[in-house]
This record gives sequence, C-alpha cells and structure tokens, in this order.
Amino acid sequence: MRQLKEECGVFGIFNNKDAAALTALGLHALQHRGQEGCGIVTFDNKNFYAERRLGLVGDNFTKGKILEKLPGGYAIGHNRYSTSGNNLIKNVQPFFANLHTGGIAIAHNGNLSNAIHLRKELVKEGSIFQTTSDTETIVQLIAKSKRSKIIDKIIEAIFKIQGGYALTIFTNKKLIGVRDPFGIRPLVIGKINNSYVLASETCAFDIIGAKFVREVDNGEVVVISENGIDSFKPFPKIKERPCIFEYIYFARPDSIIKNVSVYEYRKKLGASLAKESHIESDFIVPVPDSGVPAAIGYSEEVKKNIELGIIRNHYVGRTFIEPTQQIRSLGVKLKHSINKSLIKNKSLILIDDSLVRGTTSVKIIKMLYEFGAKEVHMRIASPPIKHPDYYGVDTPDKKELLASKLDLEGMRKFINATTLRFLSIEGLYKSMGYEKRNSSYPQFTDHCFTGEYPVEPVDANKKSFEKEGLSFLSSKL
Ligand code: AMP
Repeated sequence: MRQLKEECGVFGIFNNKDAAALTALGLHALQHRGQEGCGIVTFDNKNFYAERRLGLVGDNFTKGKILEKLPGGYAIGHNRYSTSGNNLIKNVQPFFANLHTGGIAIAHNGNLSNAIHLRKELVKEGSIFQTTSDTETIVQLIAKSKRSKIIDKIIEAIFKIQGGYALTIFTNKKLIGVRDPFGIRPLVIGKINNSYVLASETCAFDIIGAKFVREVDNGEVVVISENGIDSFKPFPKIKERPCIFEYIYFARPDSIIKNVSVYEYRKKLGASLAKESHIESDFIVPVPDSGVPAAIGYSEEVKKNIELGIIRNHYVGRTFIEPTQQIRSLGVKLKHSINKSLIKNKSLILIDDSLVRGTTSVKIIKMLYEFGAKEVHMRIASPPIKHPDYYGVDTPDKKELLASKLDLEGMRKFINATTLRFLSIEGLYKSMGYEKRNSSYPQFTDHCFTGEYPVEPVDANKKSFEKEGLSFLSSKL
C-alpha cells in the first residue's frame, strides 16, 4: 500500500457571526485542492462543534441544517485529498483534541516527511493514534509538550516535524496559522469587515468578499486574537522555497501569488514551451482544464489558433483522486471526450501542464487517433517528473513516474505521440521571472524535477504505518 499523501485546502476565520457558512464557501473555492472529504470545526465561546464528511463541500455543507449544527463566531475548515486507500471518515480533518489547556482543532495542508519516524517514537512512548494521518502526529506532539502556554507547545511541536505544512489551528480563542520553514505549502491572510481569515489560496477570499492582507511568511506563526495579529518567527531565518507545483498545477488559476495571478504564470510557462519546442501543425489543443492557460500562452507566442479538441465532463473529479490505476484509467475516459468533427485528418499540438504517470496522455492520444487525428505533438508545460515528493504532492513512488523509468523517446513511444517535448528547467525558471535557477539555493522546491530535496525525506525508505502493523487501531475503530 502506498503511503498516505495529502495535498489539501485549509481555511480559518476569526470572530464572524457567519463563521461556519463563510468557511463552507471558502472550502468550496478551495475544492480543487481536495475532494475526498471536508470538515468544519467551530467554537461558540463555550463549546467546540465538528462536522466532517466524505465527499464534496457543496454536496455536504448545503444539506439539511448542517450549518445550524456549527454555531459560533470562530471556525476552521479542511478539504482532504489523499491517494492512499485510507479514504475513511476518521482521517477527515479538522482534528480535535481536548488538551489540559483546552480544546484544540487543527487542519493541515501538506505532508510531513518524518511522520513515520516520529510516530514510531511516539507510539514507543505510549501515544495511541486514532487515525493513519500524518497530521495526528502534530496533535500528539502538541499534547505531549510540557510547556505551559499553548503557543509554546505548538512551536515545540513544529520544531520536531519536517516537510511541507500549512496549518490552521483554533484554540483558546485564538486562530493560529503556521507555515513550514521553507514555505513549501501556501497560506494567506485576508480580512472581511473586522474578521481575519486564513486560507490556502486567495480564491477563497474572493468568494466571500474578503480582502487580501498578506502571505504568511515561510517559518512564520501568526496568532490572531481579539488584539489583532501577533507574529512569531521561531526558526532561523532562511529564504523561502515554495513548491513549484503550486504554480504549475495545484493552485486555482485566479489565485494570486506574490501579486501575480497563477493564470499569468501558467501562460508564461506555455510561452516558454513554445519558444523551446514549437512545431508546425494545424492548431493547438489544450488538455482541459489543467492545460488551458499554458495553451493560451503557447498560442499567443506562436500566433496559432487554439481549438477545443477535447471536451471535459465537469462532473467527474480529478483522475488522481481514484485510488487504483484501473479506476484512474477509466476516470480519464469518463472525464474527457473528443470533439470529433474538428480532429479528423488534423495534425495538432496537444498541451498539458504536467505528465506524471502518463495515464492522461495515453488515453487522450489514443482517443484522438481513434477519431482520425493525423499527428499529435505532445507538449508539456513543465519538466519531466523524475523524483517522488514527500511534502504533499501526490507523486508517491518513483516506479510510478513515467520519466523516472523511460527516456524521452521511451516516453514518446509509451504515450504514442508523434513528438514529445517538455519545458526545460531553464525555461521553467525564466517563466517564473528568474534569469536562471540558483544552483546553490534554488528559488523553488523543485525536487520533483531535480531530485534536490530541501528537507531530508527521513521517511523515504520507511515502511508505512500499515506495513509496520502500527495501524491495528485504525482498522478496528
Ligand atoms: P498523468 O495522467 O499521470 O500523466 O498525470 C498528469 C495529469 O494529472 C495532468 O493532466 C495534470 O494536470 C494532472 N496532475 C499533475 N499532478 C497531479 C497531482 N499531483 N495530482 C493530481 N493530478 C495531477
């Protein structure tokens, strides 16, 4: 079984009479970050309330009187994305625990690269885990800390964890936001009237009419209370290295990162791709939706038309959401169909943002040929993914990554494209506004392409909890 990997969306709001409803809306805007489960925890100055569900926010948090079960002016929320078999309600966040300092609710986006290591230590010391999620390790570490103040407990815990994490925490009438020392996973601060809001991306502010205030810095802990925002920077100062994949694939195109929309970044990736590897053809076809901004940038660069040669059915989730390869393959067919009358006898440039296992490309190219395409020139708006991620991107095993198994020609044959080209690393950095990649301290976490990990992936060769037999509790609960 593959390790649990998560790329999720988090949200939090402080002191607003519509806290639960606004959180549901924020999570709805962040739905692209995780579709397996969602949850909201609220606080009404006395008690905590939690509702967690499998499935989409819109299907769950609009039904019946669910929001009435979430009273109070304080809320955090979570969208879950996991690709392991553990699509179980007990793994749906926010997690809640009663500490001697009071209740604490916590939502996590990312993945801890030493969670297995820490969990083994904690279990040895007597901790009992209720879930198979790495996030529970954080809860256990906070609970075990001997510090008296909750903020010091949290800081002690984050000194022990490694990897990618953006956390929203609610405890003791404080909304706390935490971002890992490299800022691998995103977290932004907004404001609606007098209420501060935390979210994974700015698109969650737009839906509720909140204004963007600023990003949480890498390694920063922000504490939002009646007194406003306090900032703690417990780690030694280092330059940030955000995950390049947020720009390439994860974030919603209308989200803003560093004053630039993700859409603009993706168009630039497409334009660089065109500069590097354009080939004559009848028109450009994006793989919807992920390839669309790059295809627009490509098309503008070479002044060639885009045609919607592939139509996407929007009622099917992302292909990766499905846990087995067999269902994933079927998922691509359910998700994409060919605009037949357009394709026949045409030679086309097919653009997608990334190639991971090759599942999408194989299916789409096969369908394009079935409907009479003459040539399919596949262009990928990011470099080949050769290395697994341990900080929250779903690329778990090296052996599943097409580019780690095959060279360019091997990949071309595998997906059966007429030609295949990827954006170069140099092109990637240029598109992001840098002259070149800083080889001694890269501007981004780009280990998926380069194999240079910012934090040692301690768990890389460790067996998962399940294999170690440490999950007996979870399977029986
Ligand atoms: P694959 O079909 O395995 O080659 O994956 C590539 C497709 O999945 C592309 O269309 C991407 O937009 C999308 N994709 C890339 N990375 C991820 C990820 N970590 N999770 C889900 N989908 C992804």
